[in-house]
Amino acid sequence: MSATKAIAEDTTATFHGWASTGALPLKKFSYHPRPLGPKDVEVEISHCGICGSDVHTMTSGWGELSGPCITGHEIVGTVVAAGPESLRQVGDLVGIGAIVDACGECKDCKEGFDQLCKKSTFTYNATYNDGSDAKSYGGYADRVRVNSKYAHKIPSEISAAEAAPLLCAGITTYAPLKHFGAGPGKRVGVMGIGGLGHLAIQWAAAFKADEIVAISTSDNKREEAKKLGATKFVNSRNEEERKAARHSLDILLLTSNDKNTDWAELIDYVANHGTLVLLALPEIPTIAVPPTSLLLRHVSISGSLIGGWKITQEMLEFAAKTGVRPWIEKMPMSDANGAIKYMMEGRPRYRIVMETEAAARLQKH
Ligand SMILES: [Zn+2]
Ligand SMILES: [Zn+2]
Repeated sequence: MSATKAIAEDTTATFHGWASTGALPLKKFSYHPRPLGPKDVEVEISHCGICGSDVHTMTSGWGELSGPCITGHEIVGTVVAAGPESLRQVGDLVGIGAIVDACGECKDCKEGFDQLCKKSTFTYNATYNDGSDAKSYGGYADRVRVNSKYAHKIPSEISAAEAAPLLCAGITTYAPLKHFGAGPGKRVGVMGIGGLGHLAIQWAAAFKADEIVAISTSDNKREEAKKLGATKFVNSRNEEERKAARHSLDILLLTSNDKNTDWAELIDYVANHGTLVLLALPEIPTIAVPPTSLLLRHVSISGSLIGGWKITQEMLEFAAKTGVRPWIEKMPMSDANGAIKYMMEGRPRYRIVMETEAAARLQKH
């Protein structure tokens, strides 16, 4: 038997949360956090949004868990302890998204794509690549310790509860729209009006895209899409509306996909030279796309994963200025299983944010 390296943890501290061991329901779970490093902060969590990724992870849809997993990567809270080199101070309201560490030195990190860094660490169900082998735990908990670089300062214009979904759903939609140049002269489509889509529409409107087309499988969200800033609504099951929207979009964000996704139909919405951008990972290993659109119409298929620390901070400041905010429903974290059930039934309009007891203690926000 080979010797196993001791995992770095601070046995003087115990954090409490809700964990999955691969299936629901979530169970109460306590753990010792990694030691508070010189650049780290300890955050008392007041809010945590529920992301689709949390559900894929906690139900083992993306594979087996490495151990009890506290999900949650739309975390907001107050700094209660800070290392001597921390970028944040005790009392700061901060937000933590889907990554908590990266090397800071590789090409990806230098170009602002630290989420693609080989040494980056996801906020939960991951192991730190900094030599400590510490496990990462997410935000369905009372506290978390992370590198202060990834504890983003929340602008005072944004409430703590509304800030939470910006940390994943917000950056997941903001970054690709920025990257692919959404703005004047561009026609943007958003397929799926939910936690991601309702923010994507608002960003595209704030970027002043020529057209913002909300595409959904039913008419339920037609009015709400317009309120969010869509200039047009397409019910994808309405043959006439679908045909009228053919080859019309320069950028099409796809907020969810699964084994039943009709890729030919999706690509049909994209204009010549346009790009279809995947924002969510399905629970299947491969997708099949018709090659003719790629070759005969120069359509590209791309994907986008959250955003690095720099663009995440920029996104928060842009939201503060432009008024882009998630539409949220608050639920108590003490009933995390109830919140997950509500989420899995597809009922939230549009993002659930769980609150801990610390929420009542926040002075402002
Ligand atoms: Zn997420
Ligand atoms: Zn790196």
